[in-house]
Amino acid sequence: MRAPQLTVVGLDAATFDVIDPLLEAGDLPHLGALVEGGAAGRLRSTTHPLTPLAWTTMVTGVNAGRHGIWDFSERVEGGYGLRLVNGSAVRAPALWSRVSAEGRRVGIVNVPFTWPAPELAGFAIAGMDAWEREDGLTTPPELVRELKQRFGRLLSDHSFPLDSAGRFDLDTVRAICAQRVEIVQWLVERYEPELLVAVFMAADHVHHLGWPDWEARGRESVVAEVYRILDAALGELLERVGGENVLVVSDHGGGSLEGVVNLNAWLAREGYLAYAERDDTRAELSHRVFEARRLLPPSLRRRVKQLVPGLRDRAYAYRRAPSVVDWQQTRAFAYGTFGSVVVNLRGRERDGIVDPADYDALCDELVRGLSDLRSPSGERIVAAVHRREDLFEGPELERIPDLVVEFRDYRWLGKGNLTERSSGLEDRIAPTAHPSAVYAGSHRHDGIVVLAGPAARAGARLSASILDVAPTVFYLLGEPIPSDLEGRLLAEALEPALLDERAPRYAEPEDVELAAPQAYDEAGEAELEERLRSLGYLE
Ligand SMILES: [Zn+2]
Repeated sequence: MRAPQLTVVGLDAATFDVIDPLLEAGDLPHLGALVEGGAAGRLRSTTHPLTPLAWTTMVTGVNAGRHGIWDFSERVEGGYGLRLVNGSAVRAPALWSRVSAEGRRVGIVNVPFTWPAPELAGFAIAGMDAWEREDGLTTPPELVRELKQRFGRLLSDHSFPLDSAGRFDLDTVRAICAQRVEIVQWLVERYEPELLVAVFMAADHVHHLGWPDWEARGRESVVAEVYRILDAALGELLERVGGENVLVVSDHGGGSLEGVVNLNAWLAREGYLAYAERDDTRAELSHRVFEARRLLPPSLRRRVKQLVPGLRDRAYAYRRAPSVVDWQQTRAFAYGTFGSVVVNLRGRERDGIVDPADYDALCDELVRGLSDLRSPSGERIVAAVHRREDLFEGPELERIPDLVVEFRDYRWLGKGNLTERSSGLEDRIAPTAHPSAVYAGSHRHDGIVVLAGPAARAGARLSASILDVAPTVFYLLGEPIPSDLEGRLLAEALEPALLDERAPRYAEPEDVELAAPQAYDEAGEAELEERLRSLGYLE
């Protein structure tokens, strides 16, 4: 078996805030060896540092104004509903598509927002936006059958590591990691990719529920144990498949969550948003019944299903067409969970009422008001409110909300609930599958980057942008760096002798055809929606 020229291991949400103390204690020997013998440092994520946006930015090497991915859901044109986003909505080529178009073999496993699995020379298993069904799950398409025959049920790390009683279940995390390593080894032996990218999600999930435990118990916490499991998987993977050079990255960091603001409640209080007089529509009733059925034992749930056929469809139809807001009286509204505000602009939104001539003044006013949001103890909690043009540029800019509310250190989140009227500013993230679980961890801007192997400059300490990963990957593969990438080659991570011997080359980007956007079908949408809601990423 030939080792990949470059093996990229993605550890979603991994942060040096956890890694450093564990390295010090000798708890992460494999990552420790890579850091010790290689170049390592912080990888600054996107604003918002949110998985869909962050991973897509990393693997395309361009900003969201060009790739078009903002959040887990996006607004449906010509209305106020939301639909779930998947990899086919990405409007810029991922680095593996470009590398594959050059005739190089690649393999990607579990990278978020890669469903349907992309066409490429090599193999792909789609990530957290993939449904459970076989279609779209792998490239080549028949691979999924073979994987199931060989490895049994495919385990995925797309839910919280909790058992049915709500206790942490780390054996499942171990089993998922072990199976993934087995599968990747088999795939690498079979396809011999020159570029391998494999992602593990467990650190992200354990942060969200276990961060207070990390703060209280450090090395003894579930968070530390998950990092040790990931470190063991990393060691096992590198031992089995290797990699001439190895890059370990995360899409963002993690940290505590202090509170959640319901931005629509604030907008209503300040007179920007009006709730509808009557929101007791049949659809909302279905939605409520559908929600309430989660509290029932499985047998009764089945009974409800028999009694009210089509309940699920009606409940989701309600979600897609929220009726809780009086759009004709609303100048601005929020959606998502990280802080996204949209102006109800005339000519752009279905029932837009804001005159385009007033757009700038309204945005300025909202920026001032939102910047002054405070915690119940009176502390200011917003670092900045950005106009989208200040952060992004490109043909997909319209898919980004007008205002981006950046909370201080992301210790707070700004929820935009459009399906339920809420009077209080204070809110919470409620992972639906585990109502008793406390969602107390969130993301941070600083992820990690570690480069090890002969190309790495040992001991180099890095401060990189998430946009710098793609150009660096092209260089490590010996390919010219496409000139339309927005980041820079991380030259300080590289052995100076290598740079002398092989100066970076740049080339005009080749045309890479993008796959057509593909929506989930009704059942797929429902399945993905449940998954994301159970992770707290969707209202
Ligand atoms: Zn993430």
